[in-house]
Amino acid sequence: MILLKSVQELERMRRAGRIVALCLEELRAMVGPGVKTADLDRRAERCIAKHGGLPAFLGYRGFPATICASINSEVVHGIPGERRLQDGDIVSLDVGVRLEGYHADAAITVPVGKVDARARRLVEVTQEALNRGIAVMEQGRRLTDVSHAIQSYVESMGYSVVRDYGGHGIGQSMHEDPPVPNFGPPGTGPLLKEGMVLALEPMVNVGGWEVTVLDDQWTVVTVDGSLSAHFEHTVAITGDGPLVLTHL
Ligand code: MG
Repeated sequence: MILLKSVQELERMRRAGRIVALCLEELRAMVGPGVKTADLDRRAERCIAKHGGLPAFLGYRGFPATICASINSEVVHGIPGERRLQDGDIVSLDVGVRLEGYHADAAITVPVGKVDARARRLVEVTQEALNRGIAVMEQGRRLTDVSHAIQSYVESMGYSVVRDYGGHGIGQSMHEDPPVPNFGPPGTGPLLKEGMVLALEPMVNVGGWEVTVLDDQWTVVTVDGSLSAHFEHTVAITGDGPLVLTHL
């Protein structure tokens, strides 16, 4: 995990984060019935390049695309392709950028056309779970205070959090220590300190927390076929509290 040593270093990560945010907003605006996930991928590729960044996912452990696009019961790591979004779907879009040697990573889940109340609520709860996690990213707290805040909120809403995947430290590499589980008891793990940067990313299922990986070796899906949503931000701990780097 990076421990930011200067304002300049923080600003560099912020610039990477701003590109992620800009491109996610472009993708959000483009999502609609009939759109192919490959089209979203191409748009993200152009957006990242236009702002001087590099796509952090492309080629990462052999991942073949710029973004991850995961539809409905797909949780994360969906590979963009010829599949067209349909009215009533939800699609999770994950974007990672490298800029001047630093990384930023964020994800949103976007309703496609008119979605039912159940899908809408899942998306809202997952976004709020991320907010709850960010809110406890303060100096002096322990890492799993964040995990506990996310899990307890999600379960209080009747959903489950995915356990096989979670957040991570981020900095000069996209995935750094420590892993940031979205579940577990509070009060353990490293002490949170000013200058630490973590990517928080709750993945929330309507049904059980169990997931499996499809034959493409990437796409993670819920075992019970239930809907899943995913939100992520890259967040720095500062003397004034948590600072989201993947905002515009
Ligand atoms: Mg991530």
